[in-house]
Amino acid sequence: MENFSIVVHGGAGEDSEFIHLNESAIKTGLEDAVNVGQEKLKQGGSAMDAVENAVRLLENNPLFNSGRGSVLNNEGEVEMDASIMDGKNNGAGAVALVRNVKNPISLARHIMENTPHVFLAGQGAFKIAKESGLELEVDSYFITQHQVDRYIKSRKKDDVDNFIKKRVHGTVGAVALDKAGNLAAATSTGGTTNCLSGRIGDSCIIGAGCYANNSTCAVSGTGDGELLITNVIAYSISTYMEFKNCTVQEACDYVIHQRNKNINGDIGVIAVDAKGELGICFNSERMHRAWKTNDEKLTVKIYK
Ligand code: ASP
Repeated sequence: MENFSIVVHGGAGEDSEFIHLNESAIKTGLEDAVNVGQEKLKQGGSAMDAVENAVRLLENNPLFNSGRGSVLNNEGEVEMDASIMDGKNNGAGAVALVRNVKNPISLARHIMENTPHVFLAGQGAFKIAKESGLELEVDSYFITQHQVDRYIKSRKKDDVDNFIKKRVHGTVGAVALDKAGNLAAATSTGGTTNCLSGRIGDSCIIGAGCYANNSTCAVSGTGDGELLITNVIAYSISTYMEFKNCTVQEACDYVIHQRNKNINGDIGVIAVDAKGELGICFNSERMHRAWKTNDEKLTVKIYK
């Protein structure tokens, strides 16, 4: 049997009232993303199509911090990062600091497939999106009341320390194995609330928040972007598998709970290997996640 699997995440971090109030809608959003990706895989579609379509759905869902529903930076503006990687050929595409592009993940894929580059940022990336006919939206499309409230809270001086300590992440990602044995990973985010304008996180950095290699695994990360970058989280998981010849779950556990056990922040990862086995690991209170392998029942979880 040709195995096929998909895992999605909707961010890792602390629990919050917002999550409790929206728990069932968050779970439905994750389930819909798995189902859309799984349907592609079932019909023989590529892992790249599965992860792109799953992430697009999450980008369109205002409950997650990516696309519509992105957090606001210190100027009260939305700047989005995304990346995608094809485990078959080491191909990758990434965008940083994009505005007004409805689905940054599709722009990342477009850059991978239609330009000689891997990574474009800002105005240049926007120009490519416009020229290629990708869907654009006005600023207000991306901004939700929930993120405005969080932004205002983060700007109240007395609350800043508390806010920074209480990390609430809602970045999205997907990893998949298709029937042809190819792996792919995709990650998309609005970044972190009240971050400096121009700040770039891990979600668009190949090897940090996104990585795929058919001979090891595909990984998508979430959490404190600065830590995922400096500890090269996604690539570490792939490399550990390669050198130790261990399972993908063992590699995720080692990188999160041992190698980075003293880290002062949140890290969460989802991963899949070339046999369709999954790795899911986080050091935070919760990570929104859902997965499905072959025709097994879909599983969706928020807490440990
Ligand atoms: N990793 C993302 C970033 O730092 C945030 C998140 O995962 O919620 O941009």
